Amino acid sequence: MDSCIFCKIANGEIPSNTIYEDDKFRVILDNGPATKGHALVLPKEHYANLFEMPEELLADAAKVAKKVASDIKDKLSCDGLNLVQNNGETAGQTVMHFHLHIIPRYKNDGQHILWNPTSPSAEELVEVKNTIVGA
Ligand code: AMP
Ligand code: ZN
Repeated sequence: MDSCIFCKIANGEIPSNTIYEDDKFRVILDNGPATKGHALVLPKEHYANLFEMPEELLADAAKVAKKVASDIKDKLSCDGLNLVQNNGETAGQTVMHFHLHIIPRYKNDGQHILWNPTSPSAEELVEVKNTIVGA
């Protein structure tokens, strides 16, 4: 993908603040971080989103995320940590190259990454379940 900025960053054509690299991934600091240490796991090959990612590579991404998250927790002494992965504009994805956000959390960091819960009825939940798994 010639026009993809994350392809260029992941493959070292554009400089980045790299905190981890192996043959399949580069992990960089987000340049508009939600919090101190906010990082992005980027596969070096272009896949637009979760649905395009090969399962094995996705499993590798989770392993890389755990390693880097552990390093961040140790070095930055965060109080918590969110893994976030957006798919599609509606879900907030702005760069159409798969990436996994690692967002360290600090008490009173002023961020609001969680959602507003809704209150479906028990029947509505069952209907959704049946729609997904087939009734
Ligand atoms: P998303 O909204 O899930 O697509 O996340 C895209 C993220 O990429 C945002 O948090 C941006 O701040 C970050 N970002 C965009 N361009 C760059 C860049 N050149 N270097 C580092 N982070 C970037
Ligand atoms: Zn790309």
